[in-house]
Order: sequence, then C-alpha cells, then structure tokens
Amino acid sequence: MKNAFEAAGQYFEEAAIVMDLSPNMKKLLLTPEREVKVQVAMKLDNGDIATFVGYRIQHNSARGPMKGGLRYHHEVDSDEVLALASLMTWKTAVVDLPYGGAKGGISVRPKDLSADELERLTRKFVDELHDVIGPDKDIPAPDMGTNAQVMAWFMNQYEKFHGFNPACVTGKPTELYGAEGREEATGRGVGILTQALLKKFNRTMETATIAIQGFGNVGTFTADYVSRAGGKVVAVSDVSGAVHCADGLDVPSLLTYAKQNGSLKGFSGAAAISNEELLALDVDVLIPAALGGVLTDQNANDVRARFIVEAANGPTTPEADAIFRRREIIVLPDILANAGGVTVSYFEWVQNQQYFRWDLERVREELEKTMTRSFNKVWTLAEEKHIPLRTAAYLLGIGRVGRATVLGGI
Ligand code: NAD
Repeated sequence: MKNAFEAAGQYFEEAAIVMDLSPNMKKLLLTPEREVKVQVAMKLDNGDIATFVGYRIQHNSARGPMKGGLRYHHEVDSDEVLALASLMTWKTAVVDLPYGGAKGGISVRPKDLSADELERLTRKFVDELHDVIGPDKDIPAPDMGTNAQVMAWFMNQYEKFHGFNPACVTGKPTELYGAEGREEATGRGVGILTQALLKKFNRTMETATIAIQGFGNVGTFTADYVSRAGGKVVAVSDVSGAVHCADGLDVPSLLTYAKQNGSLKGFSGAAAISNEELLALDVDVLIPAALGGVLTDQNANDVRARFIVEAANGPTTPEADAIFRRREIIVLPDILANAGGVTVSYFEWVQNQQYFRWDLERVREELEKTMTRSFNKVWTLAEEKHIPLRTAAYLLGIGRVGRATVLGGI
C-alpha cells in the first residue's frame, strides 16, 4: 500500500502525463520550498518534561502566501505533512484562492493532554516557528486534533513577537477575529458538492442514502447539512465505532449526544456496527471524513456506494482509486470536495486585513459560489478530456500553479 506521500505523487504524475509536463517543471512543482522540523519541549502538569516533534512544510508560494492546516495526531510525520502540504497547493489553486500550500503538525495524542498542556504545547510550537509564519508568508488553520481555541492560543503567542496580527492564522473563534461560518465551512462545502454531484446524475439529495466516516468537525457539519437538505444519513462513525439505521439516523440527536459525551460511544438510538462495515454499506454516497488511507485495495471491492465524496484528506489509496475507476464508482476528490474550509479561511483572512466583518449570509453565499464554480470547471474538464474527476482537479490546480510560476519567473 502506498503511503500518503507516494499517493499524492502518483495522482500528480497522472495529471502531469495528461498535461505533458516537462521533467524540470515536474521537479520544480513537486519540491517543497521549505521544510521545518522542530523539537517542542514542555512541562506536563505533573512537572515532568515531555518532548514532541513538530513540522511545518511550505510547499509552494507561486500563487501567494502559503496556507494549510495544523494537525495534532500521533501519526503525524514528515512524509504525511509533505503530502498534505502539496495537496494544499493544488487545492487552493483548484478553488482559485490567491494562496500557495503548506501543512504542519505535531506528533502527539491531544486527548492525552490537559487543556493547559495543549496550550503550553501550542505556545512552544509558535516560539519555534513564528519567524516563518505570517499573513503574507504562511497562514495556519485548524485540522485534525486542533480547533478554534488552538488557533486563538497560536495568534496570541504570535502577537507577542510580531504585534497585533489577527490574519496570521485562520479558524479563530468568532469572538477573536474569526469568521462567521468558518467552523461549518468544510462540512457545508462537502454537502454543497454532494448535492451538485448528485444533480449531474439526475439524482437529488432527498432520494439519497449517505454514510459518513468520522464525526468530528467535518463529519458533524456534513451530516447536519445533508440531513437538513433532505438526505438520509444512515450511518456515521468515529474512532469508537459506527452507528447504523437503514431508515435514517436522527442526526440532531446524534449531534447533541456526541457534543455531550465527546464521542458516539454508547449512543443507544441505532445499531452499533464497525467502521469497516460502514465503508461497505449499500448506500448512494459514502463520505470518508476522518483519516487518510482508509479506502485501500483490501476493502475497495467491498464498497457498494455509487459515489464517494472525499471529505478527509487522502482517504483513497491509488490502488483503491484504480478499483473504483474500474467499477465505475464516481470519486469526488479531496482537493475539491473539502476545499470549503480553506475558502472560508480565505474570507476570514480578507476580513482581518480589512478590519471588516461579513455576516453569515454573505459567507455562505460566497462559499456556495466558489465551490459550485470550481466544481463546474472540474466537471467540464473531466468531460472534455475523458478523465476522472480527480485527474481533472489536479490538472486544473497544477496548470494554475505552473502558469503562475512561469509568469512570475524563476
Ligand atoms: P476532527 O479531529 O475534528 O475529527 C476527526 C474524526 O475522525 C473524529 O470523529 C474521530 O473520532 C474520527 N476518527 C479518528 N480515527 C478514526 C478511525 N480510525 N475510524 C473512524 N473515525 C475515526 O478532524 P476534522 O477537522 O473533522 O478532519 C477530518 C478530516 O478532514 C481530516 O482528514 C482533515 O485533514 C480533513 N479536513 C479538515 C478540514 C477542516 O476544516 N477541519 C478541512 C479540510 C480537510
């Protein structure tokens, strides 16, 4: 099985062949501009000293300041961060934001740390990184294991070195220069594009059954959006397992339960199944919204969904992708499907730079416009060139980054 880095490379290569990209340009676009690896040492609540490894990889800035999430997860390593940083470069280009791509993270189990420890960890990470971060350089945002609170600590620590600077990070709390609608943005974007995809096949959300793996930020807002739009969410899961109800889950109850209990564990309103069973359910749409590499050659033949909408980053290995193509399962790729988050992060950055605040209605309107326009572009490219949606999305993203590189000059 290919790891995240090899998978991203293979998807790039497929598009590069269609584009007839020169070897020199390929090398230029694949090589990250800067890789930072730091030791983050901090005192635990019990007085012990703990050390963690933190990363920030700045992949490409041809189209603007680099943008990408910060992940706190025990499996974070440099290969994964590099793969995710390159995905951000193509993603910001696919939705035509004036940004490049970056990614960062700390190899840590955030649930093992107290809130105070998480705060100290974040502040120490900023101490190590702040020189290479900034509104015109590289702007982090939340990802797995981080949230608005972590971004608030990040901003506060950054400002100790550089003065008032809310645009240095996005995904902040709305009380602290965050944008209305940022928290829901990725899930909402996934919902909007699920609807757009179904429409292309003369289907509607009201007649669709949906299974969602992952019930964190992206999974919960996706479930909320699709159920409000009339879709039948028949299964959801988190790290503790999955719940299933063929007649449709009561999404509001699940959201309340997960909020109160921190996970789906113990939810009694539906049958418990495993995460593997969820992936193989007979549904119209499967939405992986948790980890990368969950759809592999080991389980791709068991998938019975007609559509896969990649809310997570890198959920499908190239081997599984090949199986889905052969089986004519339509995959809406991550670099388009989950771009709602970075899009509203861009809106937040714009508001911070202008000291101006948009209302939720405007954010949602602009998000829908950006997501739909990008989807239509990718769809048209896929039809014109007879290529899968993933290759078309890479083609669009790589093409835009390549042109900016050539126009700017080396
Ligand atoms: P999160 O930490 O809020 O939630 C992750 C969820 O996945 C949790 O419910 C967790 O229990 C579940 N999970 C973890 N391991 C699992 C497993 N083995 N099986 C099933 N579920 C498991 O993270 P998030 O922000 O929702 O991010 C989810 C995915 O979406 C990631 O791949 C992330 O990179 C991607 N993404 C997030 C954003 C964003 O704005 N948050 C934007 C773009 C992409």
